[in-house]
Order: sequence, then structure tokens, then C-alpha cells
Amino acid sequence: MAEVVLKDVDKIYEGDVHAVQSLSLDIADGEFLVLVGPSGCGKTTALRMVAGLETISGGTVTIGDRVVNDLSPKDRDIAMVFQSYALYPHLTVADNIAFGLRLRKMPRNVVEERIAWAAKLLDLTPYLARKPKELSGGQRQRVAMGRAIVREPQVFLMDEPLSNLDAKLRVQMRAEVAKLQHDLGVTTIYVTHDQVEAMTMGDRVAVMSMGKLQQVDTPQHLYDEPFNMFVASFIGTPPMNLVEADVAVEGERVDVKVGPTTITAGASALARYPQIRNCDGRRVVLGIRAEDLHPGADRPAFPTFNGRIDLVEALGSGLMAYFTIDAVPVRTQAHVEMEAESGVTNGDGNSESVVSGARPNLIAAFPPRVQLRIGDSVPVAVDPDNIHFFDLETGAALR
Ligand code: ATP
Repeated sequence: MAEVVLKDVDKIYEGDVHAVQSLSLDIADGEFLVLVGPSGCGKTTALRMVAGLETISGGTVTIGDRVVNDLSPKDRDIAMVFQSYALYPHLTVADNIAFGLRLRKMPRNVVEERIAWAAKLLDLTPYLARKPKELSGGQRQRVAMGRAIVREPQVFLMDEPLSNLDAKLRVQMRAEVAKLQHDLGVTTIYVTHDQVEAMTMGDRVAVMSMGKLQQVDTPQHLYDEPFNMFVASFIGTPPMNLVEADVAVEGERVDVKVGPTTITAGASALARYPQIRNCDGRRVVLGIRAEDLHPGADRPAFPTFNGRIDLVEALGSGLMAYFTIDAVPVRTQAHVEMEAESGVTNGDGNSESVVSGARPNLIAAFPPRVQLRIGDSVPVAVDPDNIHFFDLETGAALR
């Protein structure tokens, strides 16, 4: 097992594509680090440079105490698991698992022992004589895992290993892979575009956008204290609500105006975003998580928006309510991607559930059984302690 250190790592592909820019990461011995970001952000390229499958244009990659920039993949003591599983169709499960060991001319009894060990750990014992095509997707994925773990490498590198599984199986395998990694204690770098997967699996999560690291932190910190608007809207479902707001500071009091609504920032918000005190007279971006909005009647002491209900999704455990309020929304790439997936679109889109031409600009997570009728206007209360502030120009958190 080993620490993995990336220092100022760059990748410039032919045609001047700067896919990874000055990426620095310290991954501790035994840590599960997830690299996450939208398609094309450079996460696979970063992983492939650690693996040795891609040359490094600048900077250094260190595994344990060795700089590995010039070592071939087989000399780096890593094992990779890919989205495609990359199993040999003509070999049995046992032979697939053992393939790398036999290539290294390991003694037969050791190979047999390791196959049995991995099969037991991964619940594959009954299937050892089968061929990959006789297995379910989840079982195939476990064979790919088996092949990686029997090698007992210093580092696991996993590139979207669960993407080919259906949603339910993916959730189950998420937990299994995380437990396996924890039990084995092997340093792991795991690439995914799915922020839920990243949050549930990683000890820490590194968020990338357009070749650059945005923030690396524990899942809870990323959620509670995003460094910038990209992280704020990429991490969390639905993405954080972001609207323009005008700031007025008077002594200790910071008022934030959004249309006709004034929110006096709570002590906790001021402590987390101290720079907001220096923003008197400025326009900033106010961020509010869906769960920090409440039906007005439930929180009489909180400031409220007047929200017109555009769409209500009943999730059983709660409601996701889409409102239009008198506010200028601030949109990031994460919002665009989320809307494309959910079918909630603006006037030029074609969703029938949206009442008017306007795009809902506030999403609230309400308790179940709140009565909401599409088209009605209702008060939506904001928790003034749980709000976030970002610079309108740069998107940086006003810390
Ligand atoms: P995805 O989730 O879609 O795989 P990613 O975040 O893993 O995306 P990469 O595959 O690392 O992104 O690609 C990063 C950027 O580098 C993209 O703009 C991509 O088009 C570019 N790129 C990747 N491979 C090459 C290549 N061999 N030659 C030139 N450009 C490349």
C-alpha cells in the first residue's frame, strides 16, 4: 500500500488540448479518493496518467516513494478496473481472476489460494467455472474486481466501474466496492461523473471542471462549504439554488435583498462567509439549498419569498417543489445538466408540467403531504443561517 502524490500534473494532448492543468493531489495510504466532474473535465486523463496509460506532459506522479512518470504500467504496482470490465470471454471466471497472476508466473498453489480468497470475498464461488457471458452485469463487475484484488497492488485505479449496471445494482455495488476497499485498505482513486456515487463512496472527493481541480474535501465539507459556485451546484441533488442579491451592511447587520424579499443573514452564515460584510452596496450571488427552504406556515419567524408553484414532484418521503420567485437566477453548467435529465425546461422547451414561459428559479425540498397546487402563489421561508454567498463575477465563495 502506498501514498499517491500528484504534483502540478499537466496533460496537453496534440492540438493544444490542455486536458489537465496543474493538478496537485495528496492521496493518503489506504484512502479512497473519488475524482468527479462533468464529461470532458479531465478526470479519466488524470487517472490514466497515474496508471501509465497516458504520458505526463508536466509535473510528477509519485506512488509510495517512487516517481513513476517514466515507469511502464506494469512496473507501477497498480491494478485497474474499467467500465467495460475487460474480461476475456473465452476464459472461465477463475481463469479471468487468475490471469494476471499466471502472467507473473506465480506458483500454482498461491494462484489457487488467491482465486478462492477473492471468490469468497466477492460471492463468486458458485460461478468460478462459468464464462463471463453466463453472468449478470453485477457478477461480471465483481470478476473484474476480483482480478484487481488478487494482484494485491499498492493502488487501485477505477474508471467508472459501475456505469454499465442498472440503477438498483449500481447502488448495491457502490456499497460493496466501498466496503471491499475499506476492508482491504488499498489506496484507491475512483473516477465517476456521478456526484452521488462520489459523495457516498469517497473518503474525500476531488471535484474537477475544465481540466482544473475546484476543491478536494470530505463529502460533507464539499456540501456545506463549497469553495465556489461550480462545486455548490455540482454537488447535491437538486443543485443549490443561486440567485442574484443586493447587499446592505449596517454595523453588525447584513441585509440581502432579492426582489421584494429581505433576508437578514444569520450568525452562522456570517461566520462561514465573513467577506460578505465587505460587500455593502454590491450585488452578489445568494445560494440556498433546497432543504433550507420551508413552507412559510412552518417557519413564521423566517423571511419568505412569494413563490408561484410551477411543478411538484412527490417522492414519498418528501416533495420537490419548483417555484418561480421574483429573482434573477444564476445558472451554472450543473443546472443545465440537471434540467436536461429531469425534463424541466423553460418556455422554449416542451415540458407540459411547467405552467408559464418562465423557468422555475427556486427548488424546495418540502415535507410530504404539504398541499401545493400548480399555479398558486405561496410563501416560501428561508433559513437565514443556512445561506451561502458567492462573488457574482468570479463565482468564488465569499469566505
Ligand atoms: P468523460 O467522463 O466523458 O470520460 P473525462 O472527464 O474523463 O470525461 P477526459 O476523457 O479526461 O475527460 O478528457 C478531457 C479532455 O481531453 C476532453 O476535452 C477530451 O476531448 C480531451 N481528450 C481526451 N483524450 C484525448 C486524446 N487522445 N487526444 C486529444 N484530446 C483528448
